Amino acid sequence: MQMYSEKDVDASVLAGKRIAILGYGSQGRAHALNLKDSGHDVVVGLRRGGASWKKASSDGLRVEEPADAVKGAAITVFLTPDMVQPSLYSSVESNLAKGSAILFAHGFNIHYQRIKPRDDLDVVLIAPKGPGGLVRRQYEEGHGVPCLVAVEKDRSGNALQLALAYAHGIGGARAGVIETTFAEETETDLFGEQAVLCGGATELVVAGFETLVEAGYQPEVAYYECMHELKLIVDLLHEGGLRKMHEFISDTAAYGDLVSGPRVVDAHARERMREVLQDIRNGTFARNWIKETESGQKKFREMMQADLDHPIEKVGARLRSQMDWLDN
Ligand code: NAD
Ligand code: MG
Repeated sequence: MQMYSEKDVDASVLAGKRIAILGYGSQGRAHALNLKDSGHDVVVGLRRGGASWKKASSDGLRVEEPADAVKGAAITVFLTPDMVQPSLYSSVESNLAKGSAILFAHGFNIHYQRIKPRDDLDVVLIAPKGPGGLVRRQYEEGHGVPCLVAVEKDRSGNALQLALAYAHGIGGARAGVIETTFAEETETDLFGEQAVLCGGATELVVAGFETLVEAGYQPEVAYYECMHELKLIVDLLHEGGLRKMHEFISDTAAYGDLVSGPRVVDAHARERMREVLQDIRNGTFARNWIKETESGQKKFREMMQADLDHPIEKVGARLRSQMDWLDN
């Protein structure tokens, strides 16, 4: 494993060069503000009149239409939703400076060949392992979110250093930058969010809640057990792994964890995980998501609405409204 830190970065490769950030959402805002605070020349590329335009300019950033923002930029960064990036790339390609770099925070469009970059461009990835809000907050506190770096095409001979200097500018080099490939980043990122983080964790929470409610327990008590308390466990895992969790939970909880956890996430669940990974690796998941987008994302919105209409959401909203320390 190759891990880079601040001492490996030659920040001078970006000195006096312009960075164009396309998109001003979760990642875009964090990257643009961090780079600006690190002393870089940043331009944000957005559709005129869109909601993000006002936000970026009131944050003190220079904002232009994407096709203008990329002119003269040494690095153009694609931070719009993944499904929007191929058409956005086509609309700016002819204005990308010869021999400049394009940078992604997720490898999807390069790995699945939705974007086929012009031959003179460096193609690199800096993927922060955390949401944009955290990328900004950690930077402001003098820390950083760890990042992955990958180089798909090194036409300049300097692509890795350019990417590392970018990671340094957003604060990621403070926490460490691990070298990977577009394939590894894309496939592990999709798997993690589907099987464990977003898909797996929420299904576990909801199934646990339903099991308790169906057996006649109060929904409020089930909510505290299955959703609210998850944060306490996740914080312990984040800070000190399985060991720290086991130090803080009771012996009874630890024994129950060890004998019952594998009964729930059993061989059957692991087999399903392998299938999910298979669909990611052979492109089935990407094809389905692209098809869903091309047909207007109707099914996506319906499934989302069903998630938001689940009874756990009503109980949760009521209980959280009494936790006045929560930001909601
Ligand atoms: P987002 O949905 O928050 O970004 C939306 C932004 O894109 C808005 O500013 C919007 O105005 C802009 N936009 C939409 N369509 C546009 C168009 N046609 N032209 C110009 N701008 C347009 O996006 P995000 O979640 O920050 O994701 C950006 C990239 O970062 C993706 O590749 C994603 O996979 C990756 N990523 C995201 C996270 C995360 O925490 N959200 C983490 C790691 C990597
Ligand atoms: Mg879910």
